[in-house]
This record gives sequence, structure tokens and C-alpha cells, in this order.
Amino acid sequence: MTITVKKVSLKRTASDQIYLPAILKGLVTTARHFFKNTLTKGMGDVDTIRYGEPDVNVEDYYPQRFRGVHRLMHRDDGSVRCVACMCCSTVCPARCIYIEAEDRGGDEEKAPKSFVIDELKCVVCGFCVEACPCDAIRMDTKAHMHPTETRADAVLGKLDLMKRGTQSVAHQGGVGADFRTAAPKADPRFEHDPR
Ligand code: SF4
Ligand code: SF4
Repeated sequence: MTITVKKVSLKRTASDQIYLPAILKGLVTTARHFFKNTLTKGMGDVDTIRYGEPDVNVEDYYPQRFRGVHRLMHRDDGSVRCVACMCCSTVCPARCIYIEAEDRGGDEEKAPKSFVIDELKCVVCGFCVEACPCDAIRMDTKAHMHPTETRADAVLGKLDLMKRGTQSVAHQGGVGADFRTAAPKADPRFEHDPR
């Protein structure tokens, strides 16, 4: 596979530096949409959601792949699925995931003693979900982060995140008791072997 690199010039022109053309361009776009919506469509057909009306659930309008507020998934026994591997907190560009690991006991993987996400720092990139090796964290809640009275209310802990979680259909750790030593085999529940 050939990888090509596109070089982008970072040189700013005089027009970029005074910002005025960009501001005017933005205002023209806003005005165009305003007149298009109010004059040609009529107020009833404007492409907006009546946010805040009691009969309108804004979450019904979100697209299927909308990244909502995080949730932590559960194991079969209802405990947290996360194994405190730190992949999500390492990949997070906003550095807004804080995890403290603890032993589950026996041969079990680790668990998060605390798992905290600062939703106001989060840039909603979804990298944490992509990086998680065991379907422990998701953003498929279809719920956006609601306004909060205080800064601290936007910092969600393990229990807050688990309240939105459900049991995952993915196997925790592998298939069968000998999953660490057995040769990988296809799981009939999946079209492709997930390992
Ligand atoms: S969505 Fe992105 S910014 Fe937000 S917690 Fe996940 S990795 Fe960090
Ligand atoms: S949520 Fe996933 S990626 Fe993050 S620490 Fe837990 S297991 Fe690892």
C-alpha cells in the first residue's frame, strides 16, 4: 500500500491575518440560511428542532452514530467490565479520563477502583471507545451531556457511568476456561471471530 503525504502551507496571507474576510464570509452564510429559511420555506418548515418543547424529545433526532455521553458496560455478574488497561486514558487527546486500578483477586483481570471522566473536557472524539479492547466503554447512549449547575457535576464517576451501562454480548477475556492457552476458534455468535 502506498501512503502519500499532502503538504499544507501554514503561511498566512495578509487577508488571513486581519480576519475580516473570514468574518464577513461567515455572516454571509448565516444571512443566506436565515433568509432561505424564513422567506422561501415559511416558519413551519424550517429545518430546526423545537428544542425545549415538552412534546419534543431532541434525542429522537440524533443520527444512529451520534456519540453521546459515556457509559460503562457490565459483566454477566453485574460488575464493571473494564479491566483497567488504561488504553482509553492513554489515547484520550483531552486527557479527561482518570482511572485507578485494583486487583479483582485470583486470576481475574484488574478492575477500576475509580473511573472518572470529565465530560466538560471531553472533545467527543470517540477514541476511547475505539481503543477499548473489551467493549467496556461506549458512547451509544443517545444522551448528550446536560447543562450542570456546578463544574463538579460534569465529572462522572464509575457508578454514574455504570448506571447507563448494560451487559455486553461480547465474551469477557475469551471463550471457555482455557481461553489463555487454547487455539483460537470461531465463535458461532459472531460472523467473524472477534479475536
Ligand atoms: S471521547 Fe475522546 S476526548 Fe472524550 S473521553 Fe473519549 S477519548 Fe477522551
Ligand atoms: S474502558 Fe476499556 S480501554 Fe478503558 S481502561 Fe477499561 S478496558 Fe481499558
